[in-house]
Amino acid sequence: MKRIEMKYLKEQPLELHKPKVVSKINLLDVDERYKAITKATNNTFLLRNEDVFLDMLTDSGVNASSDEQLAASMRADEAYAGSKTFYRLEKAVTSLLGLPYFLPAHQGRACEHIISRALVKPNTRTPMNYHFTTTKSHILAMGGIVDELIIDEGLKIQSDYPFKGNVDLKKLDDYFKKYSKEEIAFLRIEAGTNLIGGQPISFENAKAVTERCKKAGVMTVLDASLLQDNLYFIKVREKGFENKPISEITKEFCQLFDIVYFSARKFGFAKGGGIVLKDEKLYNKMKEFVVMYEGFLTYGGMSTREMEMIAVGLEESMEFDVISQGPIFIDYMVNELVKHKVPVVTPGGGLGCHLDARSFVPHIKQEEYPAGALATALYIVSGIRGMERGTLSEVRNPDGTEKLADMELVRLAIPRRVFTLSHINYAVDRIIWLYKNRDLIGGLKFTREPETLRFFFGELAPTSNWQEKLVKKFKEDFLNKY
Ligand SMILES: *Cc1c(COP(=O)(O)O)cnc(C)c1O
Repeated sequence: MKRIEMKYLKEQPLELHKPKVVSKINLLDVDERYKAITKATNNTFLLRNEDVFLDMLTDSGVNASSDEQLAASMRADEAYAGSKTFYRLEKAVTSLLGLPYFLPAHQGRACEHIISRALVKPNTRTPMNYHFTTTKSHILAMGGIVDELIIDEGLKIQSDYPFKGNVDLKKLDDYFKKYSKEEIAFLRIEAGTNLIGGQPISFENAKAVTERCKKAGVMTVLDASLLQDNLYFIKVREKGFENKPISEITKEFCQLFDIVYFSARKFGFAKGGGIVLKDEKLYNKMKEFVVMYEGFLTYGGMSTREMEMIAVGLEESMEFDVISQGPIFIDYMVNELVKHKVPVVTPGGGLGCHLDARSFVPHIKQEEYPAGALATALYIVSGIRGMERGTLSEVRNPDGTEKLADMELVRLAIPRRVFTLSHINYAVDRIIWLYKNRDLIGGLKFTREPETLRFFFGELAPTSNWQEKLVKKFKEDFLNKY
C-alpha cells in the first residue's frame, strides 16, 4: 500500500473490506444485561451469545470469512481419504510456511496434543517465551514441566518496548548450562504471545534463540496461531523488514524452526489447524497420533469446506492490507483509552486490547478476581463480553491456595474483519464511563469451583451488592444525559 494511505490509516482506522452478509446483534438494556450476567453466574464464558452485543471474548473461530473463501468452500472434494481438497491445503500450507511435511488437526490445541504426545516424556522440560493455557495443559498432562524465559519487559504492563514477546537470551544461555539436551523436550516460541497481551517476538530474537537451540541440540517449535499479527509487527517495527513482502517474512520466520503449528481458527480465517515439520521420521510418528485422535490423514478432524477456506485464508494473510487491520484497530483503541488514562497493556499488540485490572480496580485483591469482576462490570454497562486473563484462569497450588497470576487482564479480543470503527468507539466510550465509576466495582467469589480449567465453567457471585449499585449509577448518569 502507498505510504500516504498507510499513514492516514494509522491515524484514522478504515475498514479495507465491506460487508456482503451481516449478522444482527442485540443491544439489551442495562437491567436485562444485569439479569443475564447473574444467570451466567458471573462467568462471561457462560453468557448466551444472543445476550451479547460485541463479543470480544476471543479471536478463536470468530474471524469473518471472505467471499473468496466461501467460493472456495463450494469446491470442497468430500472424501474420507485422498480428497483433492487436502492436497490443495497441503500445498498452500507447505509452500507458504516453507516446511515440507504437513499434518492436519482440528484446531490449535489438537496440534499441541499431538506434539506433546510425540515429544514430551515425564519430567522433561519445555522452555518457552511464555505459556498458553491449552499448551501448558497438554505438556503437563504428559508429565512435562513448563519454564518461561520471557524478557522482564514482557511482564511490564506499560511499556514502549516493541517486542515484549522476546526470549531473554541470558536466561536461555543459563538454562542450557543448567539442563542438558536430554532433559529438554523442545523449546517453544509463541508468536504474538497471547497471555501477555498479544505481544510480538522479533525476527532477530527468534533467530538468535533457534541458533542457540541448534547448537545445544534442542528441537524448536513455533506456535504460529497468532503469527498473522506478529508478521505485521515485524514489518512495521523491525529494521530491515520494511520492504520485504509478508510472504517472504513468513517463510523465513517459519523456516527457523523444526516444527510449526497453528490454529486456523486464528491464522487462516476459518476453523481447523495443522502442523508442518522438517523431519520425516518425526512426521511418521506424529501421523499415527493424527489418525488415532483427529481423523484420517487427509482431513484430521476438519470439514473439507473449512480446509478449502483455510487454504485461501492463509493466502489472504500474506497481504499487508489484510493483516494490518487488526493491529491498527487495536492500536487505535489502546491509544484512545490511554488518552483518558485508562490502564491498558501498551504498546498495543495483536489479538485485542487488554485492560489492566490491577490498576483499574486496585481496591480488589487478587483472591477476589479483579479481572473477572471487571469483565462482569463491563458487560453490565455495555453488553461487551471480554475474557478474564488473571488469577481466575490459573490453577490452584497443590496446597489449595490461590496461584496469583503475573497479570490481571481483561482481554477484549478484536476478531479479524468483524468490528467496525463505531463498534470500537462504543467500547471506548463505555470503558471510560466505567473507569470514572471504578470505585463501585467489587470482587467475586466462587460458588462452584471445578477442579480443572475452572475459568470455563466456574460459577461465581459478587462479594457484595456492588453490581446493583453499578446499575443504579449507570441509569442515573445516562437518564440525565438522554
Ligand atoms: C488460540 C491459541 C491456541 C489454541 O488454538 P485453538 O484452535 O483455540 O485450540 C494455541 N496457541 C495460541 C497462541 C493461541 O492463541
